[in-house]
Amino acid sequence: MSEKDQSSSAQELIRRFSEAGKEPLLKAVFSSIPEAMIIIDVSGTILLFNRTAEEMFGYSTDDVIGKNVSVLMTDADNVHHDRYLSSYLNTGKAQIIGIGRVVQARRADASTMPVHLTVSEMALDGHRLFTGYIRDVTKEQAAHLKISEMQVELANFSRLSTVGTMASAMAHELNQPLTAIANYLEAARDIIEGPPETAYPLVQEALDAAAKQSIRAGQIVRRLRDFVSRGEFELSSVQIDSLIREAISLSKVESKGVKPRVVVECEPDLPDVMIDPLQIRQVLINLIRNAVEALEDESAPLITVSASMEGSDVRVDVRDNGHGLPADVMKTLFEPFHSSKSHGMGLGLSICQTIVETHGGKIKAEHCEEGGARFSFTLKT
Ligand code: ADP
Repeated sequence: MSEKDQSSSAQELIRRFSEAGKEPLLKAVFSSIPEAMIIIDVSGTILLFNRTAEEMFGYSTDDVIGKNVSVLMTDADNVHHDRYLSSYLNTGKAQIIGIGRVVQARRADASTMPVHLTVSEMALDGHRLFTGYIRDVTKEQAAHLKISEMQVELANFSRLSTVGTMASAMAHELNQPLTAIANYLEAARDIIEGPPETAYPLVQEALDAAAKQSIRAGQIVRRLRDFVSRGEFELSSVQIDSLIREAISLSKVESKGVKPRVVVECEPDLPDVMIDPLQIRQVLINLIRNAVEALEDESAPLITVSASMEGSDVRVDVRDNGHGLPADVMKTLFEPFHSSKSHGMGLGLSICQTIVETHGGKIKAEHCEEGGARFSFTLKT
């Protein structure tokens, strides 16, 4: 086609479009957009639903027009959505509008999928309307999860092999103070049989020396713990609820007994936390795996991971309804090499403590009266 012909056929198209009016043209554009697009009003009522959205959600336009947008969301994101919308309408502060977030969407068959949602606002005849652009990120998330799984495996592998090397070096180093402690205590036992005036000062001296040696042994162990949990710290601003969900997927919650149910309860509108996500993810994975192991004999095993505000910090709780923490376990819980498991190394909680404290937070454990254990740690925002 010559340039002249092309130009006249374009003119013709423009003329036909304007004759047809804008409505059919807009409808055609709207339905052919390759991204799912939904228009809602301020109360969340769906006004328009394009073809890609029909395919993505498994609803026809007629099924959803006039319904509340909540039919497309999971219960957890419903709560968030209402708050985002009302907080935006009241304060004008955007949390999702124009920013974009990954949320869980619900299809017609009740299955869920992660989607990236961006919302923009417009005004039509004095009505405020919102357009949601939705992209299914199931594949992206699966790829991300795969990479993360590999990272966790690699981190565990390199840590364990380093621990092996360190453990033999440490066994050698620990031998010295432990032998010295045994010698001082034996000497004290022998001396105490003598007359008190001469024996007591000597016993005191021997016990003093034994105590110093045990502090030295403790320092050697602490060095190992710091070494094991050391790593490059890269602080970034992170959404804690996403990190919790990722850690749960990576924990591969499987059990010899009944598979535990895992519930996430995050206060809405939590601020982002300033953390090294890989390190804090490791803390969450350790706590969740411990919870799974403590639930092996339970008939209705439940793990609840929650996040809430504590002062200006965000507090994360990992709660289970397992056998809980007996007083003797409680005493040495965060100390390295204390384990009640035949296969346990007793390093997990001590590593968690080092990581949380290096982030400026605190970690604690509680035995719950109604059964089970609760581990809580705080993170700076
Ligand atoms: P490990 O898991 O290798 O034993 P940890 O330092 O992670 O090492 O845990 C130390 C000990 O703390 C465990 O052996 C167990 O006795 C106790 N523990 C940890 N988490 C829980 C929990 N959720 N419920 C009951 N006991 C727990």
